[in-house]
Amino acid sequence: MEVQTLSKKYCNSLTKYSRYKTRVVKAGNIEIGGDNPIRVQSMTTTDTMDTIATVEQSIRMIEAGSELVRITAPAVKEAKNLENIKKELRRRGYDTPIVADIHFRPDAAEIAARIVEKVRVNPGNYADKKKFKVFSFTDELYREELDRIYEQFSPLVKICKEYGTAMRIGTNHGSLSDRIMNRYGDTPLGMVESALEFVRICEDLGYHDIILSMKASNPQVKVQAYRLLVNKMEEEGMNYPLHLGVTEAGDGEDGRIKSSVGIGALLEDGLGDTIRVSLTEEPEFEIPVCKRLVNRYVNRAEHKEIADYGIWIAVPDGRQADYNKGERITIQSEIENQNSEIPIDPFTYTRRKTYETDKIGNHHVPVVVLSPNINEIGNADSLKSISYDYSPALDKWNIGDMAPDFIYLGSNDVSYALPGTLKKIFDYEYWKTIESKSESFPLFSPSEYLSAERKSYRINLLSLTIDDINDELLDTIKNDKFCVLVLTTNNKHAMAEQRRVFIELMNKEIDIPVIIKRSYSGLDDEDLTLYSATDIGGLLLDGLGDGIWIDADNPVEVINRVSFGILQAARTRISKTDYISCPSCGRTQFDLQVTTAMIKKRTDHLKGVKIAIMGCIVNGPGEMADADYGFVGSGPNWVSLYRGKDVIERGIPYSEALDKLIQIMKEDGIWVEPA
Ligand code: SF4
Repeated sequence: MEVQTLSKKYCNSLTKYSRYKTRVVKAGNIEIGGDNPIRVQSMTTTDTMDTIATVEQSIRMIEAGSELVRITAPAVKEAKNLENIKKELRRRGYDTPIVADIHFRPDAAEIAARIVEKVRVNPGNYADKKKFKVFSFTDELYREELDRIYEQFSPLVKICKEYGTAMRIGTNHGSLSDRIMNRYGDTPLGMVESALEFVRICEDLGYHDIILSMKASNPQVKVQAYRLLVNKMEEEGMNYPLHLGVTEAGDGEDGRIKSSVGIGALLEDGLGDTIRVSLTEEPEFEIPVCKRLVNRYVNRAEHKEIADYGIWIAVPDGRQADYNKGERITIQSEIENQNSEIPIDPFTYTRRKTYETDKIGNHHVPVVVLSPNINEIGNADSLKSISYDYSPALDKWNIGDMAPDFIYLGSNDVSYALPGTLKKIFDYEYWKTIESKSESFPLFSPSEYLSAERKSYRINLLSLTIDDINDELLDTIKNDKFCVLVLTTNNKHAMAEQRRVFIELMNKEIDIPVIIKRSYSGLDDEDLTLYSATDIGGLLLDGLGDGIWIDADNPVEVINRVSFGILQAARTRISKTDYISCPSCGRTQFDLQVTTAMIKKRTDHLKGVKIAIMGCIVNGPGEMADADYGFVGSGPNWVSLYRGKDVIERGIPYSEALDKLIQIMKEDGIWVEPA
């Protein structure tokens, strides 16, 4: 296979917020892409043959703000019934565009494309049946396959062109064709190629009303795939709008965190023209989450300029710019002109190299720092809410998987002994006055740090923003192997500003560990969850950060849970079971919400195990990606169980399936009894 060489460009700018400009695609009365607002949408979960239930659910979604309504059309009869659904919706006064969701059935797609405003096809299964066969595709065989696809796909393209129907070509990680898998593997590049094969056919037929998506339940894979897609579109002179989503995100807080990490990281860089947050909840509940995510970008472009901060940077002739003489180039132009010097690879995960300071940095998982109100941790018992459970009888702490590593106390102290794994951070002036300094560490401002007469021999935390950085400080920290940066920001375009500091450190080969700190006030718990997961998750996905510190006025229990949830979603610190559950749709064979809750109840102590709960056998196995086990609906009240991609048991009655799954885990040596 030809080795791909790629520039790293995947967005307009890494420092200035700017929407990536795409072409405008019309779906009925809605325009997607270009300068249009980022559209929000969701998908029905009803049986498509149940016209009234589908119409009523669609109306609930529309009333909640859904600008497009997607409905599954698994076969011809459902595709035909879209006509009745559309008529009834229009009769009731709703003209929201309908999107038909198609898998495997070109015949259903060709009917739906004549009825609704947009069709969604999955190139991994539109003209291919997945067989998981491993054999080599010669170039000739590959070309023959592409010819076969052209033949099967072009009738739909011609219908869409004739009827003015838009099309989403939506790749899903885990449901790539054998052809793609054999040539590119189950990779972001494979996902991109899978879509582009179809796009090239559309372009050949003069059809351009295309929207693209690259969904995955793993936010890291998804973000890399979208970036690579933009990069490849640029190479091929394409500019199709992007539909963003994380598949099978799950429910509740975890689903919101996973979605924010995956979708937010792209929105921050100006990518995305429409989004769907897939939660295992009623579809109308997805819309407020979408809105909370996209509304942050309405005035984002007005952020404080990130270039204007005074770090000396290389000018194009290779000298250092003398900032004091007014010599500076904007960071934006530096990045655009010297693409190859960005030390972060946006398409592959690599953790930034840092040295180790007392279990922070290097190979250690990112640490979690909390700054609770002192009243929240008034006694040993109160630490239970953050996974430290004290037993007075045994005089022993039981430490849970979501136990934070540091607690910031400012200029206060607690009156009891903390567990040994929970270290205290004090403001420098206060820290100087305390007796026992071995298990507590000072937090310095830059001026305190530079003039400090006393420092810890283990960890010195230095709090700074981008504005504090200058050569004197950088030279000092470069030679202090006990220093850990606490990177804060006040910029509205915060992630980009913090990333810029990381880039500067990397370019100057300063391998100091960095704790990413974000401060929020006045947010409800849901906004805190969505915002912090977006802001911090995006950096973690790029391998940046040796710790996280969310400073907010929300309950410490929530902040702790969200912190660990972000690390789990970014796959940088695994503290719990990972659930990949589909949002459910008209194909679903059991109640997804009830089933997910039932499975969680018995397995949520299995740290690090990935369990997929998928509503149907048609798409479920393909879309559960890298899950360790799969619980998949194979018929009404029937379940098939998977280990990885292999089916282990078919046709088990629903009521017996969970016991059977646990039995399989026991045989695999994965199962542990709950504490
Ligand atoms: S896996 Fe779930 S959401 Fe996907 S098609 Fe099947 S039932 Fe629908």
